[in-house]
Amino acid sequence: MITAEGATGADEDLTEYDAIIVGAGFAGATVARELAERGGRRVIVLEARDHIGGNAYDRFDDAGVLIHQYGPHIFHTTDDRVFGYLSRFTEWNGYSHEVLANVHGQYLPVPFNKRSLRIAFGEERGNQLIAKLIARFGDEKKVPISELRKESDPDLVEIADYVWENVFLHYTTKQWGKNADEIDVSVTARVPVFISEDSRYFTDPHQGLPTDGYTRVFERLLDHPGITVRTGVDARGVLDVSTPGRVLVAGRPYAGTIVYTGPLDELFGNRFGRLPYRSLDFVFETYPVDRYQPKGTINFTVSEAYTRITEFKHMTRQVLPGRTTIVREYSRPYDPDAGMDPYYPEVNEEVQRMHARYKELAAALPSFHPLGRLAEYRYYNMDATVANALALADELLKESK
Ligand code: FAD
Ligand code: UDP
Repeated sequence: MITAEGATGADEDLTEYDAIIVGAGFAGATVARELAERGGRRVIVLEARDHIGGNAYDRFDDAGVLIHQYGPHIFHTTDDRVFGYLSRFTEWNGYSHEVLANVHGQYLPVPFNKRSLRIAFGEERGNQLIAKLIARFGDEKKVPISELRKESDPDLVEIADYVWENVFLHYTTKQWGKNADEIDVSVTARVPVFISEDSRYFTDPHQGLPTDGYTRVFERLLDHPGITVRTGVDARGVLDVSTPGRVLVAGRPYAGTIVYTGPLDELFGNRFGRLPYRSLDFVFETYPVDRYQPKGTINFTVSEAYTRITEFKHMTRQVLPGRTTIVREYSRPYDPDAGMDPYYPEVNEEVQRMHARYKELAAALPSFHPLGRLAEYRYYNMDATVANALALADELLKESK
């Protein structure tokens, strides 16, 4: 049952539920469904925002265009279990994401590939360089830019320098607010150079968007007689974790399971310091045209203050003549006191150590489980989030057998 938004009233005894799930994103919604359906548990989901879906939430804007309120979300996975699980709640529209980098007005496919090389260097030189790449790494191989930059052959150095300067350096500096060389190489490895003609952003066998949008998926996931959802409720007003090793729920001891999908530093009063996140400003605009740009996303890799422009109709495949909505993303440091949302964990070794201390506090609480991109402080895609939620549900249901 999904109820109207509103604080949980004094009349509601949360301790009567078998499980309290904090957050109605992919992590919280999946684990709620599993505990209710497979485990027969009575579950309550507390969500601070006035809607379900977490950062994957979508809605129709005033122009009737289906938009992703928290930035473009394209589902992709190699994980058959996750794909099969979510396919119980939706069909998929078959969209394959494509991205172009705008390099001084010229469009290059990203991930940088054989086509990009020919556009950047011309047919003849491009083909020579492609042959060099194939000889060194093999055809159809993916090479992280950090690896390519280690090469010493002059042709490979030329490619690496070009790609670094024109695709990664400025975009990464804008997105992370620091020198691109200071960013963990796993971040840029998400978008490796691809020695291929394939211009899709993701090559996973399963990809696309839910046919009726993400929010409908969440409505179906949470539509179970064992699940109650309260939106507009910040769980920090309900959970008291101020005494190590003890949780009080609305002032009372609680024997059930708690799954927490929000940031751990904020739950524990930032006692070891604040975990840094990047936030984003999303600036939406609607234009009276069918199409604004040639592909779903254009990355601005050498110019502009924003990182990318996404046009939703490409990916949602919505048919709506004469109107289209785009979003520009401006990255900035997360400031919890300024009403921002935390979007990207800024993972590095020092911060991981701080997070590990918060994790220890969480581990000392009885039946308390941090889960998801915020609580685990990991740069997870949606599929990894669902995979972890299913694994946690397996573990919780096994324990209770
Ligand atoms: P979230 O979706 O963040 O949900 C957590 C929920 O918990 C939120 O609704 C929050 O309000 C709530 N919450 C937090 N604290 C509290 C509290 N104290 N009390 C109550 N509620 C609380 N992944 C992909 O696979 N493909 C993509 O294309 C993609 N694009 C992305 C683009 C952007 C701009 C961003 C930011 C992320 C993108 N992702 C993408 C990642 C995807 O958003 C995450 O993997 C996924 O949303 C993680 O789900 P979650 O449930 O862990 O977290
Ligand atoms: N990146 C870049 N240029 C691009 C695309 C990506 O520099 O054209 C880097 C940048 O550091 C970015 C990271 O690669 O943060 C990961 O890109 P991805 O598209 O996976 O980011 P997300 O969609 O999660 O924002």
